[in-house]
Amino acid sequence: MTTQTTTPPLAADDTLVFGALRASIDRIDDELLQLLARRAAVARDIGLAKRAAGRPVFDADRENHKAESLRAKARELGLGDGLARQLMGLLTRDSFARQLHQPPEPVAVTTPPDSDAFRLARLEPGRAPTVVAVAEARIGGGLFEVIAGPCAVENRPQIEQAADHARACGVRVMRGGAFKPRTSPYEFQGLGLQGLQWLAHAAHARGMAVVTEVTDPADAYEVARHADMLQIGARNMQNVPLLRACARTGKPLLLKRGAGATMREWLCAAEYLLLAGNPNVVLCERGIRTFERETRNTLDLSSVVALRGMTHLPVIVDPSHAAGRHEWIAPLCRAAHACGADGVIIEMHPCRDQALCDKRQALSPGQLMQITQEVHEVPTARCG
Ligand code: PEP
Ligand code: MN
Repeated sequence: MTTQTTTPPLAADDTLVFGALRASIDRIDDELLQLLARRAAVARDIGLAKRAAGRPVFDADRENHKAESLRAKARELGLGDGLARQLMGLLTRDSFARQLHQPPEPVAVTTPPDSDAFRLARLEPGRAPTVVAVAEARIGGGLFEVIAGPCAVENRPQIEQAADHARACGVRVMRGGAFKPRTSPYEFQGLGLQGLQWLAHAAHARGMAVVTEVTDPADAYEVARHADMLQIGARNMQNVPLLRACARTGKPLLLKRGAGATMREWLCAAEYLLLAGNPNVVLCERGIRTFERETRNTLDLSSVVALRGMTHLPVIVDPSHAAGRHEWIAPLCRAAHACGADGVIIEMHPCRDQALCDKRQALSPGQLMQITQEVHEVPTARCG
C-alpha cells in the first residue's frame, strides 16, 4: 500500500500571498539577469583591454583575493559561503570563456556621408579593398610594403649602390626622384630623363620596380615608359592636368597628400584619377603643415585610420618627408604599421653625408635594413 501526500487546497488569502511573493522573486530574478548581462558586457571590455595591453586573462592573485572577500561578504549577508563560492565560480568561468573566445569587434561598413564628390573612391558596403599591383609587389590587402630609395638620382654610381642596398633589404619597389619639385629654384632640380633611365636600369636589373615623380603633364608618357608607378607629389596634388595625364598612362599611381589638403580634398584628387579610368591608385600620407617646427611636417597618422572608413584605396605613409630627420623614421614606420597602413615609402642614401637633396632625413643602408627586418617579423596590424 502506498501513501500519497496531497497538497491541501489554498485559501483565497493564501493564493494572494503566494502570488505576491512569486511576483517579487520573479522581479528579483529579472534584475539578476539584467545584472548578469551588464556583468558580461564589462567582462568583454576587460578582455579587450587585456588583449590590447598584452596581459593574460587569468590573474591568480586577483582571483584568490576576490574569492576570499566575496565569501566574507556572503557570510556577512547570511548567505553561507557555499552558495557564494558556487555562484562566483560559475560567473568567473563564464567571464574567462568570454575573454578567451572573443571574436574581433565587427566594423560596420557604411558609405561616408556627403561623399558624392568622391563617389568612385569612397568605401561602399560590400566593396573589397583595392589592391594595387606594382610588378611583383601588392599594395593593399593586408601586406606591408616598404618602398625605399634616395630622394633624388644624383649620378650613376650613387643609384647603382642605392639599388644594391635596397635589394639586399628585400625592397621590391625602389623610389628615386629624377624630376624634382624643389622649394627653391637654386636647389638641385634632378637629372630629368637621364636620371630616370639610370634609376630604371639599376632597379630593373635587380628585379625591383620603380616609382618616380612626374611634375609636368607633358612628361607623363615618357616617364611611364621607364617607371612602373608614377608619383604625384604633395605640391601637385590638385594639379588637375597633371592628374589626368598621369592617370591616362595606365600606370599605377601614388598620390601624395598636399601639405595643406584635407582628407576630402585628397580623396577628390584621387577621384580625378579614377574618373580618368585608372583604378590603381595608392594614397600616401606625408605629413601636413601645422604650427609645429620641430618636425618638417606633422605626420597625420589619424588620416590612415580615418581613411579606412572613407575609401577602398590603399594608404601608405611617408615618414621621411613628415619627420625630416633620419633618427625618427624607424619609430614612425612602426607607428604606421601599427595603425594599419599598407606600407611606407622612405628615403635612403648610400652615403647620406653627400646627399644633394634631403640629407637630414636620409636613412643609412643599415638603418633601412633594421626597418625592413622589423616590419617583416611583425604581422601587419591591418585585419580587414
Ligand atoms: C618626394 O617624395 O620626393 C617628395 C618631394 O615628396 P612630397 O611631394 O611629399 O614633398
Ligand atoms: Mn625628398
